[in-house]
Amino acid sequence: MHDLILRGGDVVDGTGAPARRLDVAVAKGRIAALGHDLGEAARVIDASGLVVAPGFIDIHTHSDYALPSNPRAESKVRQGVTTEVVGNCGYSVAPVPADRVGALRVYLAASGPWYDFRETSFARYVDEFPPTSVNVAFQVGHNTLRLVVAGMEPRPLRPDELKRVTRHLEEGLDAGAIGLSSGLFTPPGSFASAEEMRALGDVLRRHDAAYASHIRNEAGGVLEAVDEAIGVGERCGVHVQIGHLKVSGTESWGTAPRLVELVEAARARGVRVDCDQYPYTTATNPLRNLLPAWIQEGGIEAMVARLGNTAVRARVADEVAARGCGAFGRLPSWDAVRLALTPAHPELAGRTIGELAAERGTSGVDTVCDVLVADRGATRVVFESMAEDDVQTILKTPWVVVGSDGVALAPYGPTAGGNPHPRYYGTFARVLGRYVRELKALPLEAAVWKMTGGSAAALGLVDRGLVREGLAADLTVFDPTTVGERGTYTDPHRYPAGMGTVIVNGTVVIDGGEHSGALPGRVLRHTARGVAA
Ligand SMILES: [Zn+2]
Repeated sequence: MHDLILRGGDVVDGTGAPARRLDVAVAKGRIAALGHDLGEAARVIDASGLVVAPGFIDIHTHSDYALPSNPRAESKVRQGVTTEVVGNCGYSVAPVPADRVGALRVYLAASGPWYDFRETSFARYVDEFPPTSVNVAFQVGHNTLRLVVAGMEPRPLRPDELKRVTRHLEEGLDAGAIGLSSGLFTPPGSFASAEEMRALGDVLRRHDAAYASHIRNEAGGVLEAVDEAIGVGERCGVHVQIGHLKVSGTESWGTAPRLVELVEAARARGVRVDCDQYPYTTATNPLRNLLPAWIQEGGIEAMVARLGNTAVRARVADEVAARGCGAFGRLPSWDAVRLALTPAHPELAGRTIGELAAERGTSGVDTVCDVLVADRGATRVVFESMAEDDVQTILKTPWVVVGSDGVALAPYGPTAGGNPHPRYYGTFARVLGRYVRELKALPLEAAVWKMTGGSAAALGLVDRGLVREGLAADLTVFDPTTVGERGTYTDPHRYPAGMGTVIVNGTVVIDGGEHSGALPGRVLRHTARGVAA
């Protein structure tokens, strides 16, 4: 007798193959059988008229900040996500020696204000990670390693520091982390040379682990930055995941085809490189990252002191006028920059820099500096930085997979505040609703592959990502006629429509559209046979 049968659904199995009408039986946490007349089950869920797909794998997330306070992973599991890869863009919350806890808390205040930072090794962090509704795979963050070893000093690592960074990385990999992530667009990662990253790539190779990168520049320097990431794969022989592939900055809009060609050429010569993308023309980041990187040298306190100086502000204004906003290039206007989190003035969340500047009679740059000073650097923004044509070019590229670059939030409790990027709640539903059903930009089966089989292959996940007998029973059942994002830029804390049932390791987490409260997620580790529970 099976535990559960999903009856009569259209199975989109995650390989890209056409949908087939099949029953799916689940027993002991695994997919037990596929076919017709599969026998008895303790429970039968009618899936007729619905799509049955593998649970979505969110290959690029920052949910490590929020899962401890939102173990139900509400905004993710309600999109059909059953696995999250955390620790991206160079940011991880471990390892942290006792004397660096405060520095990491301040550094990540604009990213994970909900997190209770504490001293920990990577092994203890993984061991003590709480039960959650989704599976979690960890990465070690290069910015975090550099911050705890060398602070915000704008210089190459000394040999003894590189040794300590290497030791921390190796401890993380031994504890099960699947690889290293970098965030070379922002300090202190931006202070690292390509050589430093290749040295760490050699460490990854020895551990058969992977490299994921938020590349050095996503605007005018995006092609060179992609080349640098590919170089780590080519030189070190490791798998490279380029996070949230995009063309940022109005001056670079239209270059997505060249970007895609560059990666395609590397893949054609055998480099193991994959890319993920979130389906929006807006980004979200700490506000300070829109200013030139030198403003952050020496750390947050040094930055706040600098921002009080009118000569510094004049230099910032000149650089922004000449080159745009840091690694993001030129933004359409200050009206395109909206406050997401602003701890000193929570009532301003949702307002734009342009609005505040007009109200206050200050320039855009001065308004940015004033907000940053008031918040001591902890402000986060959502901003328009991409062109829809480029987003669609990348989305339609068959080998690019979908990742939210989001955080598992809930519209209640500690993560409910602010005006976060709607992708935290909507990424997967938006691809299926807007791009598959409404715009017909890609077939349903191709979109599901980008959320499941494609991501599993990029990650080396060995028993998830397909609807196949014997694999872990991570399954998502949705209505292809209604699935869609419901959050907006001014009302983002909204669960998507059309997700009826989500099953994680054989346990029903979303049941009739409601969260059952179950926490069946497992930690996925780097093992000899691949990434697995
Ligand atoms: Zn990133």
